[in-house]
Amino acid sequence: MTPIPTEFEELKNSGELPSPTGVGMKILELTRTDDYSAEDMGDAIMSDPSLTGRILRLANTADKAGHEAVTTVSGATMRLGGSVVRDLALAFSLISEREAGACRPFDYERYWSLSLGRAVAAQELSRHLKVFRPEEAYICGLLGEVGMLALASVHAERYGKILIATQGQTLRALRQAEQEEFEIDHATVSRCMLSEWGLPDLFIEAVVEFNSQRAFVPSEEPITRLSDILRLSDAIGSAILLGETTPPRRITEVGDQLEILRDVLGFDDSGLQNFCDGVSKEWQQWGESLDIETSEVRFSQVFAVIARGREMLQAENVAPAASDNTGTGSASVTTSMPPAKVPAPSQGEERMRILAVDDDPVSLRLLVKHLRAERFEVTMARGGKEALKKALQEKPALMIVDHEMPDLNGLEVVRALRRSSVGNSMYILLLTGSHTNELLVEAFDAGADDFVTKPFLPSGLSARIKAGVRIAKLQAKVERDRKTILEQLADKNALNRKLRTASLTDPLTGLPNRRHAMNRVEVEWKATERNGLPFCVIMLDIDKFKLVNDNFGHDVGDEVLQATSLAVKSALRGEDEVCRLGGEEFLVICRGAFEKDGAIVAERIRKAVESNIVNSPGFERAVTVSLGVAGTHSGVSSLMALLKASDEAVYQAKNDGRNCVRVAGAPHPSPEEQDKCRRSA
Ligand code: GH3
Ligand code: MG
Ligand code: MG
Ligand code: MG
Repeated sequence: MTPIPTEFEELKNSGELPSPTGVGMKILELTRTDDYSAEDMGDAIMSDPSLTGRILRLANTADKAGHEAVTTVSGATMRLGGSVVRDLALAFSLISEREAGACRPFDYERYWSLSLGRAVAAQELSRHLKVFRPEEAYICGLLGEVGMLALASVHAERYGKILIATQGQTLRALRQAEQEEFEIDHATVSRCMLSEWGLPDLFIEAVVEFNSQRAFVPSEEPITRLSDILRLSDAIGSAILLGETTPPRRITEVGDQLEILRDVLGFDDSGLQNFCDGVSKEWQQWGESLDIETSEVRFSQVFAVIARGREMLQAENVAPAASDNTGTGSASVTTSMPPAKVPAPSQGEERMRILAVDDDPVSLRLLVKHLRAERFEVTMARGGKEALKKALQEKPALMIVDHEMPDLNGLEVVRALRRSSVGNSMYILLLTGSHTNELLVEAFDAGADDFVTKPFLPSGLSARIKAGVRIAKLQAKVERDRKTILEQLADKNALNRKLRTASLTDPLTGLPNRRHAMNRVEVEWKATERNGLPFCVIMLDIDKFKLVNDNFGHDVGDEVLQATSLAVKSALRGEDEVCRLGGEEFLVICRGAFEKDGAIVAERIRKAVESNIVNSPGFERAVTVSLGVAGTHSGVSSLMALLKASDEAVYQAKNDGRNCVRVAGAPHPSPEEQDKCRRSA
């Protein structure tokens, strides 16, 4: 199993991840090991009557093979199996979380309505196709997009911005934006959550695949993947929720998927309608049972909405782009918010750059002529390698690339581009001679946005390009928004830096403050412990400073403090630093100095202050300071002891008559020396 990334651990640590509540939590705890008893689980479930009802309901609806209705939890457990009942209980208890919706653009109600539609459709499809157990498909459907719910819950505001910025875009764009913002995307979050809850690998794989590519791509093969069941169910769920505000393009996509579904099921139109109506009815009943918003939806109306959407799209003259087949924003992404207004390219606008690539000169000329007529700014490349080079250099918004080329084929070009950050946001249309299903799947896997067969009809190509232009413009907008956000972030960092500096500076003298001093001595102390190099501190205190305040006023006192700071600074060596500890006390930190070096610096400071006349009105004289030196190599055992020693040395200097230097641990000066000190003070 793939390891859990640290980014997920961070989400988890936020404590905001949606998690099973109440009985769900109890069941999760109970069943963490394999040897739990079915009775214990049954008891836990029965302690919650509504949960009991829901589980009985599923036991009775999932399997319609003519069994008698089950009426007890143990009966349901026997029919469904212990692990299914457990997973169901977890999933159901999660739904009670839906009120906690702080992420405004994320429509929680709609999220659960769609999830339920997907769940019920998956159940019915599995039953019909007889490929998976209906109740298992139901659980997967319900939890299919749980990673989005998680991101919306943990990063309400930031995820909201992403949803708005990527609205109407491909699922790939959304996941890319999530990756950039959180270094994890919702597919991975889903995987981690389901695996944390101990759901089977089959479910986890299916959900991850479904979150990587939302649209079902038809093939000749019968359906064998649970993720394909999820994709088709998602189309039914989305169809149920189609409405007035759904963009025509999205409506058309859903319609296309339903047509594919009809063929997969081997139905005609009315067969499909019956099947979907069945799902819709079931959805509505489940909605009542789970307290999820549902309504009466008939598919005759849904198909009418789809037909109207198709007409509107045709009127807009935009082809029903296969552009989203790398993953369509599911309804919960693209349509739960107001539709994005994206204008088609108009004549007055700045011309968009497009790169046309074909090895056949005749085709290339034709293509370029067509594009120039459409008012694009066209660059050409005559092969894959040249295309790659030009794409990276010129960063066109769109690219039309021929598939069959001798040096690098179209798919190879697409793959290479998608690995680069420049090529990642480019809209790429692949031109092919043949149009096999395999190639189509391969092309979308490689990251192509759309597909055109050669020889192209000019009108068809124009329509495809128009769809591409819309996407490319949205991409450009996302890029601009991203830049703005980054700029804002940089501003915020600058502000933070300023605040940090401010918090470490004394406003009166502009010197570093006590907080900074303590940080710094701690760093020096650790360095000394590591490499044995000495450092010493000089504590100093202005003599009789209270008298200055008392006799000349506080303002003069402030000026004396400022002048003294400057005088002290002028006496320091390059790497010494002076900080104001508070009041009229300062600390000088001398890196790499023994006590004797510190004593020399201290004496220099003493003289500098003594001879520094402070020029303040009414106060034209100098003050003096008393200094205490203590070093790391005088036998002190801790940083605190070092500071205390320097403080005691200051006290000693004050005692000895002020305006002098005392070194901690040094022999006491002779009475003559003390007398000299006292006289000069
Ligand atoms: P000593 O020689 O024993 O150190 O005597 P002193 O008067 O300097 O010591 P004391 O600690 O009694 O007085 C310090 C004074 O510093 C008291 C306080 O009002 C003053 N003070 C503290 N901070 C400031 C300040 O920011 N501005 C001004 N003007 N005065 C301050
Ligand atoms: Mg060719
Ligand atoms: Mg003092
Ligand atoms: Mg003082």
